[in-house]
Amino acid sequence: MKGRIFNFNAGPAVLPLPVLEEIQAELLNFKGSGMSIAEISHRSKWFDEVIDDATARVKRLLKLNESYHVLFLQGGASLQFCMIPMNLLPDGQSADYVNTGTWATKAIKEARSQGKAVKVVASSEDKNFSYIPKAIPFSPNAAYVHLTSNNTIKGTQWASFPDTGGVPLISDMSSDIMSRPIDVSPFGLIYAGAQKNLGPAGATLVIIREDMLERVPQHLPTMLKYTTFVDHKSMFNTPPCFAIYTIQLVLKWLEETIGGLEKIEEINRVKAALLYRAIDESGFYRGTAEKESRSLMNVTFRLPNEDLEKQFVREALENGLGGLKGHRSVGGCRASIYNATTLEAVQALVDFMAEFARKNG
Ligand SMILES: *Cc1c(COP(=O)(O)O)cnc(C)c1O
Repeated sequence: MKGRIFNFNAGPAVLPLPVLEEIQAELLNFKGSGMSIAEISHRSKWFDEVIDDATARVKRLLKLNESYHVLFLQGGASLQFCMIPMNLLPDGQSADYVNTGTWATKAIKEARSQGKAVKVVASSEDKNFSYIPKAIPFSPNAAYVHLTSNNTIKGTQWASFPDTGGVPLISDMSSDIMSRPIDVSPFGLIYAGAQKNLGPAGATLVIIREDMLERVPQHLPTMLKYTTFVDHKSMFNTPPCFAIYTIQLVLKWLEETIGGLEKIEEINRVKAALLYRAIDESGFYRGTAEKESRSLMNVTFRLPNEDLEKQFVREALENGLGGLKGHRSVGGCRASIYNATTLEAVQALVDFMAEFARKNG
């Protein structure tokens, strides 16, 4: 490849081009420091401004009130699968989990492996996780309800969040954080690995409500306690500085260039509608998620057979369209169309799909 491709990778995923250009421009000399941001102390005023600005932007974009703390942790979303029950599920209590796919299954397994009481109150496993469950019988006394807002591998997404009757919601939003406005008030904790919709791998955004911190047991290892990171502004030890810096620039782009979450949702809806229409009207491609559960971020589809799928992925790349292979656990094809994916990229994909179907259908 001579130039950049249209990148449909599921994660790590495409970043906004203006962000990459800004990083490139200030890589050797960050704001007159004479150093790269990757070479500066995390205790310096330069990095302090970066993390403060990133935090302020998260708060503004999601309209967080004073009771929420914004943290940047390491260990990916996967470490949260174990930190959440460790910190927030007291012995003698039980938590409700909704199983909507691979990542939810892993979250459940991590909670259970600590001997915690976990109740799977709904699951879509009966139909290969192709839908989001409805009319869920939540437990009134649950410590929290855990769900995965967007199922990156199966291509489903919660269009709206269920009423848990006041039990705090906890959500893995790794693949749809900042893709639409949400009402944060029912959430006790939100987490997201950065590498889908926020920045590069290496940082995990955690948003935690003040009242949840009262549950954190004193005896936990320092590095596994949310309170450690709340008390030290995510800098008890060296944070993932470069990842946080990139996140800051992505959030600036989202706020100042795009115009916020209402705007990005509009754009995301146009992109997804264009792609799903191309699938539905083709008579060649077949979407794998039930229509009302479809994700606006990860569009999963099949071709008439596996040989054609391999050929599709290969020829797409030859035409500058990358990352279209489905997750290894499910096969098929997947186009991830996160915030940084342009309408132009989706249009190029739709044009290629029409041409491919015409030649091979
Ligand atoms: C990618 C992904 C994960 C895993 O994230 P890591 O940062 O690699 O641990 C977890 N949940 C969801 C929904 C994901 O998309």
